[in-house]
Amino acid sequence: MGVSSDLRKVLHWQFFAMTPQGKIKKLGRILRGSFQLKCPRCGEGALFQTYFRMFTHCAVCDLKFERESGYFIGAMYLNYGATILIAFPSYFLFEKFTSIPFYANLSVWALFSAIFPILFYRYSKSLWLNFDYIFSS
Ligand SMILES: [Zn+2]
Repeated sequence: MGVSSDLRKVLHWQFFAMTPQGKIKKLGRILRGSFQLKCPRCGEGALFQTYFRMFTHCAVCDLKFERESGYFIGAMYLNYGATILIAFPSYFLFEKFTSIPFYANLSVWALFSAIFPILFYRYSKSLWLNFDYIFSS
């Protein structure tokens, strides 16, 4: 509905009509934008006002960041998934290729699983927002 939804649809179809090189370039731009914690539409406005608190709208282009309530639950899954995908294989790699004792290995990855989601929190929200902005129609 509305102008912004039509614009998103156009962006969506533009992406799928792109050459593979164009897609890689575009994905690179999304990832770069995500890790700079900037607005997906204008690339200028900041997403966060404090470490954990997001702006509701972009200060530059007025894009609404939380499109509906519960919108960022997907970002929590993304954060959780990233933590598991790093911690589990790493644990088994350490187990197999180092002589690190069992409890030390377990402690390292348990600690990692507690700290990483906090550090990745902003990026998971930013990635979610950026990918959703480009792909959903
Ligand atoms: Zn913006």
